[in-house]
Amino acid sequence: MLNMGEYKTCQKEVLEASLWLSEHGFFGSLRGTGGNVSVRIEGKEAMAVTPSSVKYHEITPADICIVDLSGNLVEGDRAPSIEAGMHAAVYRERPDVKAVVHTHQTYGSVFALINQSVPALFDEVAFALGENIEVIPYALSGSPELAANVGNAVRNKANAYIIRNHGIIALGKNMDKALLATELLEKAAKTYCIALSTGIPIGGLPDDVLEMARGLREYEAAEAKKKD
Ligand code: 13P
Ligand code: ZN
Repeated sequence: MLNMGEYKTCQKEVLEASLWLSEHGFFGSLRGTGGNVSVRIEGKEAMAVTPSSVKYHEITPADICIVDLSGNLVEGDRAPSIEAGMHAAVYRERPDVKAVVHTHQTYGSVFALINQSVPALFDEVAFALGENIEVIPYALSGSPELAANVGNAVRNKANAYIIRNHGIIALGKNMDKALLATELLEKAAKTYCIALSTGIPIGGLPDDVLEMARGLREYEAAEAKKKD
């Protein structure tokens, strides 16, 4: 049983992360809500998730919704993000994931439009995100189909994905890692985009580094499953 104080910590964490993403331009627009953020509530099949269609600098931690992993509102007066089902699908599939960030950030969205995955060309990206930032098939924003597409995609144990004609989703074993994954994805997409535009061939990482990165992420996912 979780007390209200523990909800409060999660609500505060979600709001602070949302404000940071907003201030750093990750939501793609300053006026709209181009994205949403959640954190898993440990010991409960639930998450704290941003409310829908609000400006994050106009709300308080109490406005962050508590929603169970079947999508039912447990606590809060506001309507949860229309993508709450997508966040819940990640938590159901991936016990290692404790925080989820979805944004409409610019360079990630470029690859969402051209339907091209972004390869890990820096070792920090391979270790943190995976060997390839894959494109998840399109479905309408907020739909159960989009949640299902995301749930299927995250089984490959990567920590960042592009969502076709929409934006990106980044995962972490805590909020800080999810925010770092969001930043790293944007750096990877931006540098790859600029490198492609030069027309000069782009060198990849050596296979043994990619293998090492894959091993590390599989180990982390197996450890999280043991604790679950
Ligand atoms: P919400 O404002 O409901 O979180 O929706 C924003 C969004 O990113 C839709 O895909
Ligand atoms: Zn979105």
